[in-house]
Amino acid sequence: MSSKSKYKAIRGMGDSLPVENRLWRAVEDKIIKILESYSYQEIRLPIMEQSDVFNRSIGESTDIVQKEMYSFPDRNGESMTLRPEGTAGCVRAAIENNLINTKAPQRLWYHGPMFRYERPQRGRQRQFHQIGLEIFGSNNIHAESELILIFANIWKELGLKSINLEVNSLGTKDDRLRYRKSLTEFLSQYNDIFDGHNRQKLKANPLRLLDSKEPKIQEVIVNAPSIADHLSDEAKERFAELKELLYSAQIDFRENEQLVRGLDYYSDIVFEWTTSSLGSQNAVCAGGRYDGLVEQLGGKATAAVGCAVGLERILEMCKLQDSVIIKRPRKMYVLATELNFQRHALLQAEELRQLFPEICFELDLGSGSLKSKMKKADKSGADAAIIIGNEEIQTKMLSIKALRKPVEQKSCRISEFENLLPTLLV
Ligand code: ATP
Ligand code: MG
Repeated sequence: MSSKSKYKAIRGMGDSLPVENRLWRAVEDKIIKILESYSYQEIRLPIMEQSDVFNRSIGESTDIVQKEMYSFPDRNGESMTLRPEGTAGCVRAAIENNLINTKAPQRLWYHGPMFRYERPQRGRQRQFHQIGLEIFGSNNIHAESELILIFANIWKELGLKSINLEVNSLGTKDDRLRYRKSLTEFLSQYNDIFDGHNRQKLKANPLRLLDSKEPKIQEVIVNAPSIADHLSDEAKERFAELKELLYSAQIDFRENEQLVRGLDYYSDIVFEWTTSSLGSQNAVCAGGRYDGLVEQLGGKATAAVGCAVGLERILEMCKLQDSVIIKRPRKMYVLATELNFQRHALLQAEELRQLFPEICFELDLGSGSLKSKMKKADKSGADAAIIIGNEEIQTKMLSIKALRKPVEQKSCRISEFENLLPTLLV
């Protein structure tokens, strides 16, 4: 029976239904288990912040701030924003709660919905979910290496194939200033191919044109000066060290000079994991170093790196590659033969749950015939039905009918139930 809802979910913010959520949970659990094995600790952050937390960090000239944020005045007239990403809020929280200690780097992870006003399409929602990682207080190249290794392990644990790593170095602040100058000079020769929006980018932050998806711009970019030629020795050395570490850890990667990331706070190493199996929305995880951000948001100057994975895209890949096996939970359906006995069934199910916490006991709540209840038991996916009638109540026994194995109905005491289990479970 389907009924027509008067209201619909907001475009790009769909519901996630029970059939999907077992896979969601399995994927999240696997990821979180790995993060904890590397000693990352969970931080839970509000989904809304003062707009300036994002304006000041992501950058006024970025697509996110210019056209993707859900910003609105709250009842006091102060501008609020639904978080479009997790790093800015995490930095705000780390400063506010004194979590940053440069002598003992802090490793954090967070999880939750992000909001961006984008055109909804496959792999692109207006509410989507990320798990993000941040390390505060380490300028060691092993910090970014660790983030990369963690995700290599996550792909392995999820059984995912065809995810490729791209890396780049954006150099120091001075390197970027020098590069910006030569890039602007170069791109200015092609002024006529830029529309208003891109001309604006050219002025405010020309590096952002490097990863433009517009063919006209891509054609020009091919011949643009390269950032690698503008790196200081210090940045070159760090980049070389990272590459060396990746070789040693046998992680395949590609250097991509056009990889700049869509947020202004990055410096030095940036990286992105992409896939060819999701069509045009191909980025699954991205991150890099952002040493200036903590200070920019009012904290003490602190080295920091982080990255975030888009969970919808990962889930889509797990489905396409059928890579995560979800174990069917062991389940019993507890039913009363008559309405009168239902409270016995309820209490019996309670007792069983106490004794067998790893088994799911679903209580029948219907009022139909025994036959219809047995049908429901079957449909519920349970391994067996536990039937409570007058006789069972008088004799303190359980009647058990296996639903997935051709065995006869049996009676047993609750203390014997465990011995019977192997004959019921498939
Ligand atoms: P894209 O190039 O696809 O717009 P992005 O560079 O804006 O990605 P990030 O800000 O780096 O994305 O976010 C990290 C990850 O979050 C992305 O790699 C992607 O998997 C996911 N993601 C970003 N925006 C969306 C969205 N609108 N819907 C679903 N997932 C998203
Ligand atoms: Mg984007």
